[in-house]
Amino acid sequence: MRAERTPSVEPAIVRAGTLAAELETILRDGGVEHPRREAGDIIAAIVDAPRFWAAQHRDVLVAPVVIELARAAAMQRAQGAPFAYAVGRAAFRHLTLMVDERVLIPRQETELLVEEVLSRVSGGVVADIGTGSGAIALALATEGSFDRVIATDVSTAALAVAAENLRRCTGVLRCRVELVAGSLLTPLAGRRVDAVVANPPYIAHAEARALPETVRNWEPPTALFSAEDGMRHTAELIRGVPAVLRSGGLLAVEVDARRAVQAAALARAEPCLRDVLVRPDLTGRDRILLATRVDE
Ligand code: SAM
Ligand code: GLN
Repeated sequence: MRAERTPSVEPAIVRAGTLAAELETILRDGGVEHPRREAGDIIAAIVDAPRFWAAQHRDVLVAPVVIELARAAAMQRAQGAPFAYAVGRAAFRHLTLMVDERVLIPRQETELLVEEVLSRVSGGVVADIGTGSGAIALALATEGSFDRVIATDVSTAALAVAAENLRRCTGVLRCRVELVAGSLLTPLAGRRVDAVVANPPYIAHAEARALPETVRNWEPPTALFSAEDGMRHTAELIRGVPAVLRSGGLLAVEVDARRAVQAAALARAEPCLRDVLVRPDLTGRDRILLATRVDE
C-alpha cells in the first residue's frame, strides 16, 4: 500500500527585485508614465521605507501581505487611481495619513495654511471646518499649542477616515481633538473659538472639465465643488464666522487664486473682520485668506 502524501504547498518566495519587476510590468501595461520608479515607490510606501529600498534590497524576501498590497496598488494605478489612493497613504507636514476615495488627498499648499495658523495663534480652541482626512486638524494638534482642536465635516464618510487618522496620531497629540459632523459653522453654534481654519471646496462646477483626470474621476465631488461659481462655501464661512470667533480670533481660509480678490472683498465687507490679507502659495498664487475678528 502506498503511503498518502500530504500535498506540499509551495510557499510563495518572492524577492523585492522580482516583485518590483512584476509591478513595473503592470504599471507599464496600464500606461503609467514612470513604471520603474513607481514600482519602487509602491513597495517603499507599503513597507514604510525610503524610496530606494527595493533597488537596494533586490534579494530580500518580501512578506506575502506586502506582495498582495503592492499588486493591488499597482493595479489601481494602472486603472488611473492617484498614487496616494493606490497605496492608501499621503504625507502631510510631518504626518503620514491614511487616505482613500472618501477624502481629498491633502495638498502641499494646505501645509502653508497650517503654517500661517501656527505662526499666528497659540492657546485656545481652533476649529478646522471640512477636515476630510483630518490633515489640518491633526497637524495643528500635533505641532501647535492649543487647548483643543475641533474638526468638522458634512461627510460622515470623511469623518470616519479622520477618526482613523486621529487614532493613529494618539501618541503624538498635544491636545484633544473633537470630531463633529455638520455643515460649515453649524457644529460651532453657541460656542466661541479662537481660530477658524478651513480648506473648503472651491472649484466651480463649470471648471470640472479642466481638472486633471486623477482629481475629476477619483476625488470626492463634495470635497471639490462649490456652487455659485465656486464661492458658496467660502462666502458662507466669511459671513458666518463673526458669530463663532471671539474678539481677536483668526479666520484662515484656503481660496482659489482666481477668486482670491472676490473672497478678500467679501471679508472686507464684514464690519467685524479686520486686517484682511491674502498670502501666496509656493508658486506665487494667492491662496490663503486671513482676517481677524474685532468688536463692532
Ligand atoms: N481639510 C482637508 C484638506 O485640506 O485636505 C479636506 C479639504 S476638502 C477640499 C473639503 C472638505 O470639506 C471635504 O472633506 C468635504 O467633505 C467637506 N465639506 C464639503 N461641504 C461641506 C460643508 N457644507 N460643511 C462642512 N464640510 C464640508
Ligand atoms: N486644491 C484642490 C485642487 O485644485 C481643490 C481643493 C479645494 O477645492 N479646496 O484640486
